[in-house]
Amino acid sequence: MQIAIDGPASSGKSTVAKKLAKKLNFIYIDTGAMYRALTYFALKKQVDLNNENEIIPLFKNLNFHVTSSKDGQHFWVNNEDVTDKIRQPDVAEHVSQVATYSQVRNFLSKLQRKMAKQQNVIMDGRDIGTVILPQANYKFFVTASPEVRAHRRFLENQERGIDTSLSKLTESIKKRDKIDSQRKVAPLKKAPDAELIDTSDLSISEVVSLLLSKIRV
Ligand code: C5P
Repeated sequence: MQIAIDGPASSGKSTVAKKLAKKLNFIYIDTGAMYRALTYFALKKQVDLNNENEIIPLFKNLNFHVTSSKDGQHFWVNNEDVTDKIRQPDVAEHVSQVATYSQVRNFLSKLQRKMAKQQNVIMDGRDIGTVILPQANYKFFVTASPEVRAHRRFLENQERGIDTSLSKLTESIKKRDKIDSQRKVAPLKKAPDAELIDTSDLSISEVVSLLLSKIRV
């Protein structure tokens, strides 16, 4: 069974997807983390992120994999655990640019579809209901106002010990949404058959209950 959850940055979709997966005993797949992991690696290699031709060769022999442990999923790039590093502001700042490149998307799409074939999954991202799993059993498009989303990310960053201002975060989220929804390949958009869930005035547990009430396993 496949559940697709898409939505803009910091809409609460990952937190909700993780909790839903636990309740349903499904595997949770965070596709945003995959784009972040490749971006982290490209930043580390100091290539020009505006030049697709410099980025693509990096992924040719890349050993990229995801493991699960008690504290959640871990993302590995060439045997380096990048799970925490991919949440840093410099990765957030550049990831949407890297995600515009069709060869980057092809590379990750194959991996994502393969993972979704092997088990019951909840997958979240930007193009899951539209491109990656168009045949998903359930599709949700989770959103909230940009201000609410920036405030959520601000609190999350504080918890992680990452220092960022609320105004910078709001700006960065709006910029990311713009690039994500205007790109040519697999833009952020609601699938016609996805259900729109506005979480602006809902707590995480209210969203989880709402989605659970709609899913028949
Ligand atoms: O979900 P998260 O905010 O971690 O995603 C980071 C970025 O990765 C997004 O802003 C978007 O540019 C890209 N992304 C994407 N397609 C997905 C998931 C994420 O383009 N399925």
